[in-house]
Amino acid sequence: MRNYTQFYIDGRFVDPITPRTAEVINPATEAVSGTISLGSPADVDLAVAAARKAFASYSQTSAQERLELLQTIQAEYARREEELGEAIMEEMGAPRPLACGFHTMLGSGHLNTAIEVLKTFKFEEERGVTLIRKEPIGVCGLITPWNWPMNQTCVKIFPALAAGCTMILKPPQLAPYSAQILAEILHESGVPAGVFNMVQGKGSEIGTALSTHEDVDMISFTGSEPVGVQIQKDAADTVKRVGLELGGKSAWIVLDDASLATHVAGATAGMMGNSGQTCSAGSRLLVPNSRMEEVKKAAAEAANAVTVGDPTGNFAMGPVVSKSQYDIIQGYIEKGLEEGAELVAGGPGRPEGLDKGCYVKPTVFVGTNDMVISREEIFGPVLVIIGYDDLDHAVEIANDSNFGLGGYVSGEDLDACREVSRKIRTGAIWVNGGFDFHAPFGGYKRSGNGREWGEYGLHEYLEVKAVIGWNPA
Ligand code: NDP
Repeated sequence: MRNYTQFYIDGRFVDPITPRTAEVINPATEAVSGTISLGSPADVDLAVAAARKAFASYSQTSAQERLELLQTIQAEYARREEELGEAIMEEMGAPRPLACGFHTMLGSGHLNTAIEVLKTFKFEEERGVTLIRKEPIGVCGLITPWNWPMNQTCVKIFPALAAGCTMILKPPQLAPYSAQILAEILHESGVPAGVFNMVQGKGSEIGTALSTHEDVDMISFTGSEPVGVQIQKDAADTVKRVGLELGGKSAWIVLDDASLATHVAGATAGMMGNSGQTCSAGSRLLVPNSRMEEVKKAAAEAANAVTVGDPTGNFAMGPVVSKSQYDIIQGYIEKGLEEGAELVAGGPGRPEGLDKGCYVKPTVFVGTNDMVISREEIFGPVLVIIGYDDLDHAVEIANDSNFGLGGYVSGEDLDACREVSRKIRTGAIWVNGGFDFHAPFGGYKRSGNGREWGEYGLHEYLEVKAVIGWNPA
């Protein structure tokens, strides 16, 4: 059992002002795995005051000093990486190789990237008579979701530290353990008191206290669209900058010349990764109508090959994060059947042999783009295959979505892939796979307005100042 009942404020682990706790449930067993404290706005006030005080000196540190701090964190993160992975496995159910592999690697990747960017980033630039300075925006509230816990926190914390900002992290109630260990890592690395603070608790209380706070300059939020909308409204009265990274319903376009065995299988297995709980997942698979029968067969085989079971065992997919998320996903699967989508793999209920735990069957439908299962973010292992007549039709379907986070295009003809990539209205598009920590990540349309990762991630935490007359005319 883990009992993480203290917050991290002003360089110390402290008790909440008003004691109140909540149980954390392991989604694999549905049993209580530990306890956290639920904070109150009074705890937020203390954390914001500490961050404001620390900003005076931390914002004046040199890039070299911040670089050295990040390099110290690198060593401490590496020392605790296995422990972070174990915590992620327990809090949100990722299988051990994924939790101790890609999950924690994303955290160290953002740290390494912040270091690389900081080494060459120009905080000052002269243009004619004017000096343009990039200055830290101030005290930042960082509000994160549970689906990729280290990715979501590290993609905010490390660029904010690199920029010279101070911050208060509000981790998700469903995945609070890894954030607590991260706070210990930052403490052990000698992050100056007040620069990083963490208050656990309910989004509707701690998140709202941050969004409405007079002395918070910026909110960086990753999570669902409705909460993003609420945060923007809450932050309006104090004219904060609000960076939003919201949901998606990304299209994966398989071109006519693509090897279906490779690309359809890859897209299907990719959708099931992390139990389908990835905002940029390719949850709509767009394929040529002329090859639909082959596609169905390849997708069904790939989905049926995904093993599901206890995260501590040898399975490709663990549970989804919670019983309520399980119920929401089951509701969408039922909705797909009601709407007349053709079930190709999976379906309602738990996989055979699993009568406990929040396990969902890897599910594949063939449907149309107007169905609810094609329009709303399910955030579970559910793929919808949609047929297209020609490339213009594929692009039209891909862009016919309220979201605009990611996209994928697979095919042999690179020029055709590139042509499609130009026409898709999303913040990112992957051509035949690939991965790049320096590529900006964020959404068009209702997928948000921020850009994280790499140098763009640093810009999120900077103000731009013009000093006119710096050079004589
Ligand atoms: P939520 O929006 O429910 O929660 C995200 C965070 O916001 C949690 O810490 C939550 O606290 C907090 N929160 C809840 N209500 C408020 C409020 N009124 N004010 C301030 N903060 C609040 O999302 P989920 O945690 O369910 O995460 C899944 C969603 O995140 C999906 O829609 C997914 O697409 C999106 N996402 C987007 C990504 C992107 O980069 N674009 C990446 C990953 C996920 P609490 O602990 O109480 O829940």
